[in-house]
Amino acid sequence: KQNRAILIMNKESDRLTYLINDILDLSKLEAGKIKLNIELVNLEECIDNAASLEDVKKKNISFRKMIPKNMPLIEADKGKITQVFTNLISNAAKFTKPKGKIMVVLSNKEKDDFVVVKVKDTGIGIAKKHIPNLFNKFYQVESHLRRNVGGTGLGLPIVKEIITLHKGEISVKSKIKQGTSIIFKLPKVKEKKDEEEKERK
Ligand code: ATP
Ligand code: MG
Repeated sequence: KQNRAILIMNKESDRLTYLINDILDLSKLEAGKIKLNIELVNLEECIDNAASLEDVKKKNISFRKMIPKNMPLIEADKGKITQVFTNLISNAAKFTKPKGKIMVVLSNKEKDDFVVVKVKDTGIGIAKKHIPNLFNKFYQVESHLRRNVGGTGLGLPIVKEIITLHKGEISVKSKIKQGTSIIFKLPKVKEKKDEEEKERK
């Protein structure tokens, strides 16, 4: 009996820690108090380090990465981009039934000055009317709450702040009962030549 009580306390204190950290992260991001620690980053590494990959394994959902050979390193904050993948994969895992699929697709078109990342799932999907609200703090789709999956509605607002700080963009595509794709773009490293040319102008 005592063991069970301890396990519950442990789980609940973890939950509080996550909640407090999310609230702190978001407040700092919103207050402009977070400085990015920019380095050359391999996006695949950030995907592989996403903490929520554990949730995927536990739930028997298949997980795939699609990464083209010409994928460049990008200038970004490794920890923050890892957090983006953690939050998006956590959502995909929460709202996808066992035997479903999650895919992370990276793409790099030579002519574009950004790379594109898609986190796709075959989950329950999101009705159109909710999509504009998903990046608002504490917003959760009511009908999803019945699933008892937990969470506070801070994951996506944090993701949006991080992507915006990196001068990127984010959007959502979803179809009820078919699945959801969260798509974001991050700027590629500019070649020195372009920069110098701009300075001369
Ligand atoms: P937290 O991330 O704070 O633990 P959360 O996951 O509920 O809680 P968000 O990540 O901000 O919060 O997501 C907001 C809501 O958007 C979710 O509650 C859910 O209703 C919906 N949602 C997000 N991602 C998906 C997805 N991949 N499939 C279906 N619904 C989603
Ligand atoms: Mg979430």
